[in-house]
Amino acid sequence: MPRPAAYNWINVGFFTLSPLSALVGVGYYTYRQGLHPGDWASFWFMLCGTGLAINAGFHHYYSHRSYECHWLVQAFYLLFGAAAIQNSALVWASNHRSHHRFVDQEGDPYNIQKGVFLAHMGWTFYHNPLPPEQRFANVPDLTANRLVMWQHRYYLPLSVGTGLLFPLLLGCIYGRPWGSFFWGGLLRMVLFHHITFLVNSAGHAVGSQPYSVRDSSRDNWWLALLMFGGGYHNFHHAFPGDYRSSVAWYQWDPTKWWIWSLNRIGLTWRLNRTPARSILQARLQREGRKRGEMSDSRSQERKEQCLPSL
Ligand SMILES: [Zn+2]
Ligand SMILES: [Zn+2]
Repeated sequence: MPRPAAYNWINVGFFTLSPLSALVGVGYYTYRQGLHPGDWASFWFMLCGTGLAINAGFHHYYSHRSYECHWLVQAFYLLFGAAAIQNSALVWASNHRSHHRFVDQEGDPYNIQKGVFLAHMGWTFYHNPLPPEQRFANVPDLTANRLVMWQHRYYLPLSVGTGLLFPLLLGCIYGRPWGSFFWGGLLRMVLFHHITFLVNSAGHAVGSQPYSVRDSSRDNWWLALLMFGGGYHNFHHAFPGDYRSSVAWYQWDPTKWWIWSLNRIGLTWRLNRTPARSILQARLQREGRKRGEMSDSRSQERKEQCLPSL
């Protein structure tokens, strides 16, 4: 029987104060010192690094094992994933596997049925109610992985070092350590927190469902633009073992392009693709169901119109 969830006051403080300090810090610094191209470059470099590490690494590689990759790529995922300051790969993947397994039900850490705020960031305000021996039962492959366990053990110094001190050092290259700290460290971290959170909130509340209505997941092109392709969430929930977040050539999916490009140079392999026939079948079933629902509602309307008014 799981214990009731208690507030995680460290997370409550961190996720409410970090946006405030980013806003005040970036606003004040930029007002006084202006915006240097180096600050901007640091922001984009850190955003792209952490974005790929979370979506291609923590998500498609560690949570879903949808491809294999070289240890150098794994090291990049673990270091830049720590810089995103979204917990260790072990905790991230364990939460995410629970999300897929129990989606929309008790046991889903970001259950949209409990409200958009809880699904977005409210869930981070609570401790995991599971006892430690059960918490990582769904990630035995990761508890057996030495690199993952090393990152988990040293997560705090690693995340501060790569997420905040590293941008500060980058800024020393062009003589503005604090400019790089505020833009590439703090602001980038806060923005990417909320981009990731949006997948669990907006990605289950607004958008289209072209592949399945088994759960609340939705496709959103604008979320894909923000989340390095990870906005096609209905496709992802329908085919979670696929290394891609999207299938059409015109859909923005830098994570898919990154994994595919690394495959060309031998750094990733065994890329798992859902057969095109299964994807087409899901779409056709969904279309058929939609047409069925429309004709049902039309015949219901006709029946209601034929009823004598009382
Ligand atoms: Zn989801
Ligand atoms: Zn997933």
